[in-house]
Amino acid sequence: MTTSDAVARDLPGAIAAQRLEIVFQPQVDLRTGRVAAVEGLSRWTHDRLGPIPPSQFVAVAEATGAIHQLGRFALAECCRYGRAWHDRGRELAVSVNVSPLQLAGAAFFDELERELAGSGIPPADLILEVTEAEQLSDPEALVARLDIVRDWGVTVSIDDFGTGHSSMDRAATLHAGELKLDRSLLARDDRETIAAAVSDAHRIGMRVVAEGVETARQLDLVRAAGCDRAQGYYISRPLPRPELDDWLMRLDVEPV
Ligand code: C2E
Ligand code: CA
Ligand code: CA
Repeated sequence: MTTSDAVARDLPGAIAAQRLEIVFQPQVDLRTGRVAAVEGLSRWTHDRLGPIPPSQFVAVAEATGAIHQLGRFALAECCRYGRAWHDRGRELAVSVNVSPLQLAGAAFFDELERELAGSGIPPADLILEVTEAEQLSDPEALVARLDIVRDWGVTVSIDDFGTGHSSMDRAATLHAGELKLDRSLLARDDRETIAAAVSDAHRIGMRVVAEGVETARQLDLVRAAGCDRAQGYYISRPLPRPELDDWLMRLDVEPV
């Protein structure tokens, strides 16, 4: 049996048994220096195979249909913690990755409505990170559903901008409120594309998050380029929730 076969076989049971975990990576507001949001990222340590990278189990989940179960789990965890931070007076939005396959069905939007109501997270504290699907089955229906979600106060974010999977046209079509620059743009020091993306995004009222900030120089670069928020190892790795809480608490003591 290949690793992929074992992942496909064992993932649904692992999700059901709550053996997956969400870790959270901070995003800093470049104007205020405050942590404005955290991105929830799924983690899974397989009993026998050890840690499986999300790039691998998400792809398998998309192929087998388990992505809906994975997506419900990630959304529920992010809403639960988002509500808890809100209750403790933290102004912290939570960003959750949503697969194009989840968006394709109306069920996702019903689940989202239930999750918002059930968890009590303020909709303004939730961000949905979406990526380009090769083919959208019914783009108009999707835009209409996303508009409803936006009316609730949830932000739609276009992930991986600059990879060829996401475009400014798509961001505009989906009435997105946020654009996330793929870390490959920073890695290859593509200032021109970054500057153009920032100016186009700002023109249509979108916020820009730079991802994959690994050095002080890159942080200066994205700030100078006019990005609104930054996320990356230079600021913090993705952290399990208790460690994130400690990290946030240290910031309270020594404001950045
Ligand atoms: P993504 O949404 O683009 O998430 C950002 C990825 O970049 C994460 O990888 C994060 O750990 C990594 N990263 C953050 N800062 C840096 C940095 O400074 N340098 C470098 N080199 N990498 C950085 P991760 O956690 O391995 O996730 C990989 C991908 O798996 C995610 O990419 C996302 O597409 C997918 N994914 C993860 N969790 C979920 C989930 O719950 N649902 C769905 N649908 N997809 C998920
Ligand atoms: Ca993402
Ligand atoms: Ca990304």
